Amino acid sequence: MAMEREIVRSCVDCGSTRCDEESGAYPYFCLTQQMEEGEKEKLIQAYFDEENEKIMLNAAQIEYEGYCKLCRVEETIEFARRMGYRKIGIATCLGLIRESRILAKVLRANGFEVFGVGCKAGEIRKTAVGIPKECENLGEHICNPIYQAKKLAEEGCELNIVVGLCVGHDSLFYKYAKGVTTTLVVKDRVTGHNPAAALYNAEGYYRAKLFPKKDSASQ
Ligand code: SF4
Repeated sequence: MAMEREIVRSCVDCGSTRCDEESGAYPYFCLTQQMEEGEKEKLIQAYFDEENEKIMLNAAQIEYEGYCKLCRVEETIEFARRMGYRKIGIATCLGLIRESRILAKVLRANGFEVFGVGCKAGEIRKTAVGIPKECENLGEHICNPIYQAKKLAEEGCELNIVVGLCVGHDSLFYKYAKGVTTTLVVKDRVTGHNPAAALYNAEGYYRAKLFPKKDSASQ
């Protein structure tokens, strides 16, 4: 019989979230408590890098002023404005091109220059990068996140906004993106782009979908 793998506990197993609430006890595995000498100071220093500091202060101020008042589109506009960005790049899935068109319209109406790159731009065949031919039944061309990242950088976009790139394709976009990137829409074809819905239902209607038969939702 296969040995049960030992679970290394971390913040996802923390019942007190003491570092946020400042009440309750730190668990034995608490990451804050286990920080090495000087680590916190090094982190604080990193936030004083010129760009990091600007991002951090603006993000905190928007959170503070707009808490539960601004929607994410408004927060993104506010962030771009306060950062002093003029040109915004949109890396969009073509399945969400309508949403990206509306986003571009909104951004332009707010004074930004916008350049968008659709995921299929470049028209590279799936088989050209080693993807099995049968996958072309869903469409012949690859999503091309490396090109999206490269083109948005070439166009001088100061802020990239991701709209609905697929899992993994988004990873490549983030890997190759130059400059600052934020995500507006996370693709989920099943839940209307609301992956949290699956989590809300994970211990209910989605249990059989998300947990292997022998596993337990309460681990
Ligand atoms: S840092 Fe410690 S208190 Fe905070 S969530 Fe992680 S384990 Fe819990």
